[in-house]
Amino acid sequence: MEPIKGIRTLIFDADDTLWKNNFYFVEATEAFIAMWVAAGMEESAARQAFLEFEKKAVRERGYGSENFLYILQGLWERLSPRYPAPPQTMEQIIERFKEHRSNGPVLFEGVKETMTELARRYALYVLTKGRYDEQKGKIIRAGIDKLVRDYFIVPEKDITVYRELLASHNWSSEQVCMVGNSPKSDINPALACGMHAVYIPYEHTWHLDHDAVSDPHHPRLRTLKTFRELTGIL
Ligand SMILES: [Mg+2]
Repeated sequence: MEPIKGIRTLIFDADDTLWKNNFYFVEATEAFIAMWVAAGMEESAARQAFLEFEKKAVRERGYGSENFLYILQGLWERLSPRYPAPPQTMEQIIERFKEHRSNGPVLFEGVKETMTELARRYALYVLTKGRYDEQKGKIIRAGIDKLVRDYFIVPEKDITVYRELLASHNWSSEQVCMVGNSPKSDINPALACGMHAVYIPYEHTWHLDHDAVSDPHHPRLRTLKTFRELTGIL
C-alpha cells in the first residue's frame, strides 16, 4: 500500500481503535435480550424494545456506560411487570458489565509499541466522544496520555468538531491524518474537511455508529486490518 506523504499530525480515535470497548456492550445486550426471551418474550420484540429505548436515551443523554446502565434499568422497569425475568440474572448482567470498567481498557495488540514509534515522527493526539470523566479515566489508565501531546473529549464527533480542531491549532488539513474504526465519527467527517484518514474496521463497532465509508476509493483514505500496519504507511 502506498505510504501517506506530508503528514505531521496524527489524531487517533480511542474506543474500538486503541482498545476494545463496544464488545462489552454487545455482550451485555445479548445477555439482556436472552433473559427476556427466557421469560417468554418474543426475541424480535425484545430487540425492538431495546433499540427504541437506546436510541431515545442516547439522543437525550449521550454516550457512555452510565447511560447504558440507565437503558438496562429503564427497560427492566418497563418489562419486568409483564415478563417474569429473575432479578438475579439482571444483577449478574450488570455486575459483569461493570467489571470491564474496573479492569479496562485493554489495548489492542501492538498499540503501545506502534504509537511509541509514531510519536518519534509525528505529533500524536486523541479525539474521542463520550462522557468526559469516563473517557479521561480510560486514556490515563491505558497510559495513552503519556504518548500523546493532548487529548480531546467531545460529546459528538461531527465535521464541526474537526473544523474547529484544525482552526484552533492552525493545522492545514492535508498534514493531518485521522485514524479510527468508525466511518460515521472518524472517517467521513475527516475526509470531508480535507484531512487524510486511516480506517481500521472493528467487527464489534456499535450499530448506532455504523455508517458506510462515503467514498471507499477516496485518494486520501487508506484501510488497514490491524493497528500495527500503521507504521507501514506512515
Ligand atoms: Mg471508535
